[in-house]
Amino acid sequence: MANEGNPVCKRCRREGVKLFLKGDKCYSRKCPAETRAFPPGQHGHNMQRKLSDYGTQLREKQKMRRIYGVLERQFRNYMKEATRRQGVTGDTLLMLLECRLDNIVYRLSLASSRAQARQFVNHGHILVNGKRVDIPSYQVKAGDVITVKDDSKKMAPMAEAVKSSAGRNLPAWLGFDAEAFKGEVLAMPKRDEIDTDVQESLIVEYYSR
Ligand code: SF4
Repeated sequence: MANEGNPVCKRCRREGVKLFLKGDKCYSRKCPAETRAFPPGQHGHNMQRKLSDYGTQLREKQKMRRIYGVLERQFRNYMKEATRRQGVTGDTLLMLLECRLDNIVYRLSLASSRAQARQFVNHGHILVNGKRVDIPSYQVKAGDVITVKDDSKKMAPMAEAVKSSAGRNLPAWLGFDAEAFKGEVLAMPKRDEIDTDVQESLIVEYYSR
């Protein structure tokens, strides 16, 4: 049965888009964002989405923040850093979020959701270039090799994530050896290689006010 009361899934229904916060369920037919594709609440069925420009920009910012599981203050810092760097600010913002270690662990299919990936990193299961890194926001760079501590490879949630994610698209900028639980950042991601469903230009406009 679709879990319409699940507060995590309500976030997707509120944003009107799948945020992929619940692991395998997100890829199943039980996903409430598909079975109940209208905003949560008693009048969600009839709710018309008429947002001002500001409201649209705000919602897009919240959506992106929720997808990557980043707090408001951290998100603002990513935006500041993206603005400071050369290039298209929106693309840089997305690249900075994609290159967080917890996101990489999720993209490599070592975890079924970004929340689970964050937990694996926090608990010290993940190594970068052979050294333990327990900071989810750690920025990976091209050439970094991501592995799992030997003991941690036996953890059921990680083994299940690797197994159930087989066949899901691995981004072209990452390499992964499922047998060895080993991933590599082949290159920094380009915008068209990131499938996150956001309009980053709206977020840049939001912070330009
Ligand atoms: Fe819930 Fe995942 Fe579907 Fe979002 S995408 S509604 S988190 S199952």
